[in-house]
Amino acid sequence: PTNHQSNRHVAEVHSFGKVPLGIKRKGLRIVVTGGAGFVGSHLVDRLIARGDSVIVVDNFFTGRKENVMHHFGNPRFELIRHDVVEPLLLEVDQIYHLACPASPVHYKFNPVKTIISNVVGTLNMLGLAKRVGARFLLTSTSEVYGDPLQHPQKETYWGNVNPIGVRSCYDEGKRTAETLTMDYHRGAGVEVRIARIFNTYGPRMCLDDGRVVSNFVAQALRKEPMTVYGDGKQTRSFQYVSDLVEGLMRLMEGEHVGPFNLGNPGEFTMLELAKVVQETIDPDASIEYRPNTEDDPHKRKPDISRAKELLGWEPKVDLRKGLPLMVSDFRQRIFGDHKEGST
Ligand code: NAD
Ligand code: UDP
Ligand code: UDP
Repeated sequence: PTNHQSNRHVAEVHSFGKVPLGIKRKGLRIVVTGGAGFVGSHLVDRLIARGDSVIVVDNFFTGRKENVMHHFGNPRFELIRHDVVEPLLLEVDQIYHLACPASPVHYKFNPVKTIISNVVGTLNMLGLAKRVGARFLLTSTSEVYGDPLQHPQKETYWGNVNPIGVRSCYDEGKRTAETLTMDYHRGAGVEVRIARIFNTYGPRMCLDDGRVVSNFVAQALRKEPMTVYGDGKQTRSFQYVSDLVEGLMRLMEGEHVGPFNLGNPGEFTMLELAKVVQETIDPDASIEYRPNTEDDPHKRKPDISRAKELLGWEPKVDLRKGLPLMVSDFRQRIFGDHKEGST
């Protein structure tokens, strides 16, 4: 109970800014599950820079120590190797719950593990939030809309998801995670936030991640053909990672539960994406067609009016601006040269 009260105090001081002049705001204690991954590590950078104490919880399935190594030695940073499927006792003010493989290649690798991570992992983190009175943010996905019959997708759309397909471990896992989140909110009074994230790219993505932007960029740099699945006319909307992190933080600090779409409405076919990669890296980069994967959504584009209105958020970095930032990071990791700096 003592802990609980002191959490509340910190949270109030934080959200209302009632800090007397000259007294430093006390940093929050924040858990980021999946914090050694692509999105998580960028979020951790922002939270540490803001002055908070961060505990990263990660099992390193797709995450890497290299993504957070620059914080080692900082007393406000801790890294715990832990699988969220197992219970965890911590005392914190906020939980950003990201732990879950995000690339189709990785989440299909062990589908049972994927759905268990989404369901049991989310249950455990909600149980933790309930016990210590922490605020909980779920990183859900645009995949909850499935192969959408509404375009662009609004948060009010319930989706068109195959419950028995090869993507279901992820789509249905995230849908169940959303359900659990709302049930803990309604039933146990846990303060929750739900983000539905659309395709995001940027530095630190795994080189062999299997997602389309990382594949095309790595392939073009290595002078290999870019692998276009299907006819390449399917669309996605690509968001640069710094825009996403800003949206996640605004959502956590704001008043609204959500769900909120967080994505960049700039929509591209895979062939158009290949063209942008050619313009950015190598005009001679070639294309090779491959059979498409099962249940691949035909189109995807977020309607972000809700986030604009209630969070005052919108993306700032379009694909042609964001891609070069990712390319310099990939170039350095693939060739180890020192021509360009990474973030
Ligand atoms: P990522 O694979 O780089 O990061 C996921 C992290 O979670 C990794 O560090 C991984 O090791 C860790 N992890 C996985 N299972 C775990 C478990 N059982 N216990 C502890 N740690 C575990 O992926 P990302 O792109 O950074 O995605 C982060 C979150 O955002 C995911 O929940 C994903 O579903 C969601 N999301 C991402 C995108 C995107 O385009 N990047 C789109 C929609 C949703
Ligand atoms: N849990 C956890 N850390 C905590 C509190 C709970 O990992 O600090 C886990 C707990 O082991 C359980 C889940 O969260 O599996 C749900 O907890 P809750 O208290 O809501 O349910 P109960 O344990 O009463 O079934
Ligand atoms: N894709 C592709 N080539 C690749 C990887 C993916 O054409 O090397 C296509 C894939 O079929 C899908 C789109 O790119 O239509 C986005 O796939 P990704 O795995 O990045 O994310 P998704 O939105 O499917 O989760």
